Parts: sequence; C-alpha cells; structure tokens
Amino acid sequence: DLDVTGGRVTYDEVAFGYDTDEAIIEGIDFTVDSGETVALVGPTGAGKSTVLKLLLRMYDVDEGEIRIDGQNIQNVTLRSLRESLGYVSQDTFLFYGSVAENITYGTFDADRDDVIEAAKMAEAHEFIQNLPEGYDTEVGERGVKLSGGQRQRISIARAILRDPDILLLDEATSDVDTETEMLIQRSIDDLATDRTTFAIAHRLSTIKDADHILVLEGGEIAEHGTHEEL
Ligand code: ATP
Ligand code: MG
Repeated sequence: DLDVTGGRVTYDEVAFGYDTDEAIIEGIDFTVDSGETVALVGPTGAGKSTVLKLLLRMYDVDEGEIRIDGQNIQNVTLRSLRESLGYVSQDTFLFYGSVAENITYGTFDADRDDVIEAAKMAEAHEFIQNLPEGYDTEVGERGVKLSGGQRQRISIARAILRDPDILLLDEATSDVDTETEMLIQRSIDDLATDRTTFAIAHRLSTIKDADHILVLEGGEIAEHGTHEEL
C-alpha cells in the first residue's frame, strides 16, 4: 500500500503516448514538495490533463517513473493510490444516483451533516436545496440535468469530503458566472492549503498563488518557475 508521509510527488523523466508509437508527453521531470501547489499551464492539447491522469494511473507511463514520497506508484495498490488522491476533473461526470451519493462517492464514513458541510464549502448547498428532492435528487443520465458549473461544484464537494493527501484539479474554463467563479475559487484555495496540489489553471488567481508554474508545450516542459520568474 501507498504510505503518504508528506505528499512529495516526483515525475522522473516520464514519457507516455496513448498510441504506442507516438509520445504525447516526454521528458517530464519535476518535483512538487509536500504541501506545495503547482500550476500546470499551456495551450490546449499540450498534455496537461494527461500529466494528471498518469498520477492517477488511469494510464501507465511508457518511460520513467512517478513517485509519491519515494514510492513508485506502479508498486502500490491502485486502491491505496486512489484513496490518497482527490480528483476534480475537467469534464465532471456524475453517476446514476442521488446528489448525496455523488458527493460521498469514495468516502466511507460520511453522514448527511458531513455532506451538507462539504457542499456548503463548495458553494453547492444552495442550488442543491432548490432541486426537486434536494440532496436526494437523482442526477446523471436518468436524473436531472445539471450545468457544468453545478457538476463541478458537486465534484469539489466530493473532494472536500474525501480530504485527500494530494489534490488534482483540472479546472473547467466554462459555464460559471463571475460571482460563482469567485466562490469556487475560494473553496479551492481552502482545499489546496497545506496539501500538495496540482492545478491545471486557467484563472490567473490560481496561477499567481502557486508555488511553481509548469508551462507545458507540445508534451514537454517549456518553462518552470514561479510567477515572478516567468
Ligand atoms: P486542454 O487544455 O484542451 O484540456 P490538455 O493540455 O489537457 O488540453 P491533453 O488532454 O493532455 O491536453 O491531451 C494531450 C494530447 O493527447 C492531445 O493531442 C489529445 O488529442 C491527446 N489525447 C488525449 N486523450 C487521449 C486519448 N484518450 N486517446 C488518444 N489521444 C488522446
Ligand atoms: Mg485538459
């Protein structure tokens, strides 16, 4: 099992391609120290989401390795790895089931009060209360349709409730008004405090506050530094 002691994450000369003959990312080499936030920026298709998906082991690296506190993620159980990671994806996808079930997914000992508290922190409580059956409203294909911004807030609430060692945020560009965006930003800032965070960032505020910024271009690290340096 993975034993997270501080949440230091190292990518060691990582290369990967979806189709074996073409590398999508190459020579990815950096370390994020315990508690730090790294912002991943770069043009569409640069490989930002792919970098996170490799840490989640949604795909296996072709070359190099990724370590968490010195442990190669290939050598730990997938379950223990995923338990340590909280992932808010770019295309937030909800399961069949209620809003509450979607928020508690991946957490085993949460009661309704915990769910509501997490939803409040994610600025989701208000719209959830206004759904036909509140937290018991069915969502997903067979349930009510939620906007992209609402789905993302449910996904943030899920991450808040799970309280992961390492947080992965694939920030959505879309769908929320400025005020909601500010509120979401605040909850993300809270979530990122004191835990290792990877943020694929579009908002300048996320980028400015990061301890490092990695600029990806064409699957490689084009620049790496702080906001002041770049
Ligand atoms: P965006 O800012 O648009 O989200 P990104 O930097 O996150 O872009 P990735 O999603 O990592 O980019 O994609 C990097 C490259 O890998 C792109 O050329 C994309 O077409 C390709 N790619 C992504 N997912 C797959 C997949 N499942 N199968 C094959 N190719 C893929
Ligand atoms: Mg992406």
